[in-house]
Amino acid sequence: MAQPLLRIDVLTLFPALFDGFLSESILKRAIENGLVDVRLWNLRDWAEGKHRQVDDRPFGGGPGMVLMAPPVVASVEAVQALAEPKGRLIALTPGGRPLDQGWVRTLATEPRLILLCGRYEGFDERIFEVLEPELLSVGDYVLSGGEVAAMVVIDATMRLIPGVLGDAESAQDESFGLEGGLEYPHYTRPRLFRDREVPSVLLGGDHGEIRLWRRSQSRERTANRRRDLVDSMSPLVPPKSKSKSKSSSQKTPPILPTTASPEPLILDDPAPDDRTGRLERND
Ligand code: SAM
Repeated sequence: MAQPLLRIDVLTLFPALFDGFLSESILKRAIENGLVDVRLWNLRDWAEGKHRQVDDRPFGGGPGMVLMAPPVVASVEAVQALAEPKGRLIALTPGGRPLDQGWVRTLATEPRLILLCGRYEGFDERIFEVLEPELLSVGDYVLSGGEVAAMVVIDATMRLIPGVLGDAESAQDESFGLEGGLEYPHYTRPRLFRDREVPSVLLGGDHGEIRLWRRSQSRERTANRRRDLVDSMSPLVPPKSKSKSKSSSQKTPPILPTTASPEPLILDDPAPDDRTGRLERND
């Protein structure tokens, strides 16, 4: 089989937590199709002594246990040495930089990631000093361990690997995508649900209108829910031209996405495709 586009090595004290995650749905298919390769390593395999100890009480006192530097550093160095390239090393910690879609996009271009999951009170600081990993947080809250955070990184990254998603465009035309901001609202059958109609523009078959409506919905939604993202969005209409050649009554055309216009999405009641959720024409 050809080399996978992305190899991810996960170092954890609880590899079994990943069993269901890796064996269902999109990730399962991506692994079966050889696009993504996920390897799990148990940190305890590098621990020494009869009890294979990986954690100890914190110097200076305080609650909980701290992951010890020797087994963690040994495990990372051993896994790094197993394959070329050495990989981009990321430690999951609430003290890291918050993950966002821009970071996910750069991770998806890497051939290899190594994800280091903490537990208990976290890592002995010298692990960071010696290994110099990137520090990644999945948000301003505290999880019990890095495994769920690693799953977030794996899930968000692998869906950007070419060939993983059924529809090549679906990873672009969504929240935090090329346009920035949040995605527009979606509708599917039935057309009428509890007195709520599907917006008529989506039923008319005019794809210029539909794109414009979606972009304006996307802006409105972003302004309402995530004002902090509004400035990063591409403009809905181009700035007014200074050229005198146009009459003042002429309307400025909206900027439309540069991607090729898709086939009409909806001419009649759409039938959702189970696998991709994509709307197919019903003709
Ligand atoms: N004592 C640590 C603190 O206050 O920052 C929290 C340790 S937490 C209970 C145990 C492990 O879960 C961490 O070492 C880290 O690997 C993982 N973790 C918890 N919250 C996380 C987050 N928001 N992002 C990434 N990893 C997280």
